[in-house]
Amino acid sequence: MNKSIQSFDPSNGELLGEVNCASAEEVTQTISQSKTAQKAWKKLPINERVLAIVKAYQQLDPHANALSELLAREMGKDIRRATGEATGAIFMGQHYAEEAKQAFNTRNLSGSTELQYRPLGVVGVIAPWNYPVMMANNLIVPALVAGNSVILKPSEETPLIAQAFFGELQKHLPDGVLTIVQGDGETGKALVEGDIQMIAFTGSKATGQNIMKRAASKVKRLVMELGGKDPMIVMRDANLEQAARFAVAGSFENSGQMCTSIERIYVDDRIAEKFEQRVTEIASMYQVGPWNMPNANIGPIINAKQHAKIVDQLKDAQQKGATFLFGSSEQPERYIRPTVITAMTPEMKLESEETFGPVVAISRYSDIDDAIERANASEYGLGAVVFGNQGANKVADELDAGMVGINQGQGGGGDAPWVGAKQSGLGYHGSVDGHRQFAQVKVVSK
Ligand code: NAD
Repeated sequence: MNKSIQSFDPSNGELLGEVNCASAEEVTQTISQSKTAQKAWKKLPINERVLAIVKAYQQLDPHANALSELLAREMGKDIRRATGEATGAIFMGQHYAEEAKQAFNTRNLSGSTELQYRPLGVVGVIAPWNYPVMMANNLIVPALVAGNSVILKPSEETPLIAQAFFGELQKHLPDGVLTIVQGDGETGKALVEGDIQMIAFTGSKATGQNIMKRAASKVKRLVMELGGKDPMIVMRDANLEQAARFAVAGSFENSGQMCTSIERIYVDDRIAEKFEQRVTEIASMYQVGPWNMPNANIGPIINAKQHAKIVDQLKDAQQKGATFLFGSSEQPERYIRPTVITAMTPEMKLESEETFGPVVAISRYSDIDDAIERANASEYGLGAVVFGNQGANKVADELDAGMVGINQGQGGGGDAPWVGAKQSGLGYHGSVDGHRQFAQVKVVSK
């Protein structure tokens, strides 16, 4: 008998539903069907593929409210954020489809040489739970436009919303072009080791490394979006109000369960007291609560294991001398209350491990070079932020990250790629350049 996964509302433990896990044999069978479907799909002119994808996304519109509510219940984010994610994904699906059309146009090179973007075959998309729709969506669309078929393996924490959203999308695409295999890491492993040509993964560094090892034997193509430990530097001449607001919003967004969450803040000694005071005032306005509580802007932590990890990091920081300006290391079940800590040191787990909780973690600096060194000391390099005026561009230049924000958040505009440096990823997605990673480059000289 197949294993099954039960899915719970993280705010109260209520059972929301159950799905069957795909066994290794079923994954193999799905891959074989996906290969057959891909043969016909890749033969369609790209305009027809894009049209089919855009029309399929349009069919999701009438379901937007129901999808948003399910996303909120299952993942725990408030309904406003869940609606933003679900409707954003419906919009971005269409936008990416149109954008990717340009990405895969054949390019004429010198002489009579052409550069073509050809499909790879079957692409396995393996998704996390924190943005269960958006993260999968960003990888599925360019893969399909390029003429690949896609098999999605959603997170075991959010199987229901993945089934509802992509199950509906799948109904409006040719059979077998998009399929879903449910399950945990075992199903993920079977997919990675199956006869597929590319793995587009978003998740933790540890899982990413495991996938890289398994993919090595057949040199499978990889796009890996992994963890982060984003730093923020606040310089002496920063706009204090803007910096404090960003510090709190960036640390608490999605209850801190975001790869580009602000996880470490380095503030100039000379303005630190005022900054900490303002951060504390702003943090105290946040309210924890379930998805449907009006004004709740910090939801529950996805599961008990993640919750215990955050509490462990808070206790470790306390034992090593950190000061709690707001909140404490004692936390209720299921939630982490908004927490502000200062006097952080490099030895604390909060400084080096991904936290994934609503914690503002502050250190003071007297020398900007020390701040830059600590910011860069992480193995991760997803995003980084600097608030300041004179010299802020120079600081930004020195930060080892794929995405740097100067007096604003990291991640750029809608046509920028989403990219990590160092151990935050391999390859990237989004933008014309990012979409191209879902195709095989072929040089044809005539
Ligand atoms: P995770 O690595 O635990 O799981 C991600 C997915 O991988 C799940 O679907 C899981 O079932 C699957 N999986 C687990 N073991 C596997 C294996 N051996 N082979 C194949 N698949 C396997 O990550 P998570 O807890 O779901 O997500 C949180 C992590 O994702 C954080 O580290 C976060 O920073 C990262 N993330 C990164 C980005 C980005 O864009 N860089 C975006 C969102 C989340």
